Amino acid sequence: MQKIIDRFISYVTIDTQSDPKSTSTPSTAKQWILANRLVEELRDIGMQDVSVDENGYVMATLPSNTDHEVPVIGFIAHMDTSPDFNGTNVRPRVIEKYDGKDIVLNEEENIVLSPRYFEDLVQYKGQTLIVTDGTSLLGADDKAGIAEIVTAMEYLIGHPEIKHGKIRVGFTPDEEIGRGAGKFNVEKFGAEWAYTMDGSQIGELEYENFNAAGVTIRIKGKSVHPGYAKGKMVNSMLIANKFANMLPPKEIPQRTEGTEGFFHFHSIKGDVENTVLEGIVRDHDFDKFEARKELLQKIANELNFRYGNVITLEMEDQYYNMREKIEPVFHIVEIAEQAMKAAGVPPIIKPIRGGTDGSQLSYMGLPCPNIFAGGHNFHGKYEYVPVQSMQKATEVIVQIARLTAEQQAGL
Ligand SMILES: [Zn+2]
Repeated sequence: MQKIIDRFISYVTIDTQSDPKSTSTPSTAKQWILANRLVEELRDIGMQDVSVDENGYVMATLPSNTDHEVPVIGFIAHMDTSPDFNGTNVRPRVIEKYDGKDIVLNEEENIVLSPRYFEDLVQYKGQTLIVTDGTSLLGADDKAGIAEIVTAMEYLIGHPEIKHGKIRVGFTPDEEIGRGAGKFNVEKFGAEWAYTMDGSQIGELEYENFNAAGVTIRIKGKSVHPGYAKGKMVNSMLIANKFANMLPPKEIPQRTEGTEGFFHFHSIKGDVENTVLEGIVRDHDFDKFEARKELLQKIANELNFRYGNVITLEMEDQYYNMREKIEPVFHIVEIAEQAMKAAGVPPIIKPIRGGTDGSQLSYMGLPCPNIFAGGHNFHGKYEYVPVQSMQKATEVIVQIARLTAEQQAGL
């Protein structure tokens, strides 16, 4: 157990926060520190073809140890941490035999990780937890995934009696800013399918995510002295308000769950003359997703008709539901499910209310479901990871490697 703890801590104490405002890849130079470290470590444990490309993508191979033809599979995790919360000076704390009570993260600032708010904690009573000191995120998202993949590869190298095909591993920068898959060289990776180790609690297995689009609504008004504005002034802020009110009021993030889609405005900037409304559209169902975009267009047309071409609407698709790409190769989900059961982990299969690197990779020709990495409360100071969950994730990787070889050999 100590080994995976040490490995995990050695990663999270390296600051790898990504930056959405940067245009370079990786978006922050500090991600190179972890990338280069991983290259060294992968070589040290005996991986082959270890490489890092000019964009900071780390790849390596564990060669096959069987004579059978086995499909090449891959495991992927991301190196960056979220720009939403401080990722500098991460000081992880290991709590052994968690007693199920409040955990004081920071006495000075009275920051407490409590099972009263975070009910999931209760299920880890008696286990070893890694928590923050309350001033930063932890970075289990997704350094737990990296630690699990590296540990699983090391285990397979040390246990040649476990037969497996060729396995590729990939560590990407900039997932948290939506660019992890962007410069991923699928051809160079050369796997038939892969798994991202980037889910949350133990058991999670995901192959369905949102269809996603970004929306920018620009509204032009007409500013006139308010005392003499009758019949002349057009207040762009009020039209923005009208626009928002013409959408179905219950289809918003705070009133939806499961496979229910929504519209969400996350920014409004305006004055009388100009207002810009920015938002997102999300739906698991592709037809409903398209219908949502059509509704936005219809409202824009209606308001343009009423006020005289005041609105320009820009919509851009961001990613799609990977289910469409996974269903034709569903055995890759079944192998993961069997692997979890073999590791004694009951699978929790549910649609992701978001996207993953895997959804983009699936559309780039690398079908890529998502598996739990074990952490909770991502992107904030309450983030924690149970060490036993990391160990189970490691075991799941080993089992997937074994099962893929066995099934192909028809054993
Ligand atoms: Zn992640």
